[in-house]
Amino acid sequence: MMRMGLGWDIHRLAAGRPLMLAGVAVPSPTGAVGDSDADVVLHAVIDGVLGAMAWGDIGSWFPRDAVAAGQPSGPLLAEVMERLAAAGGAVVQVDVTIVLEAPRLADHRPALIGSLAQQLACAVVSIKFKTQDGLGAIGRGEAVACWASVMVDA
Ligand code: MG
Repeated sequence: MMRMGLGWDIHRLAAGRPLMLAGVAVPSPTGAVGDSDADVVLHAVIDGVLGAMAWGDIGSWFPRDAVAAGQPSGPLLAEVMERLAAAGGAVVQVDVTIVLEAPRLADHRPALIGSLAQQLACAVVSIKFKTQDGLGAIGRGEAVACWASVMVDA
């Protein structure tokens, strides 16, 4: 059975923080602040997988109090992927949109796709980059957001 999930995440940006996207440290004057390493891509993808399976959300799996500041998000996704595999499921496609005003990310697309493809054991990975055209908090460079649609065969 093919299942579809949608994930979304947003984190504040601050100077001097690493910008983690899909498990890749992207060179940037600002990085995301928040739970774990604040990787909006992995957080949105986790919610996409959980949504496809109707398994709740990232907050119910990994309560804020149980996740250390700066803790990598990759192991969180790995735990969800282990549970998915145990249920006979597999991610067959993921489509990600990262919304960030700066820096421009196009040069990092292959690295981000490779990282996500490896973590999801999935060959069909799309990553798109958008700015917010100067509008709102993202447009002012105060935040980074991510949408992820995930298709699961389970
Ligand atoms: Mg998050």
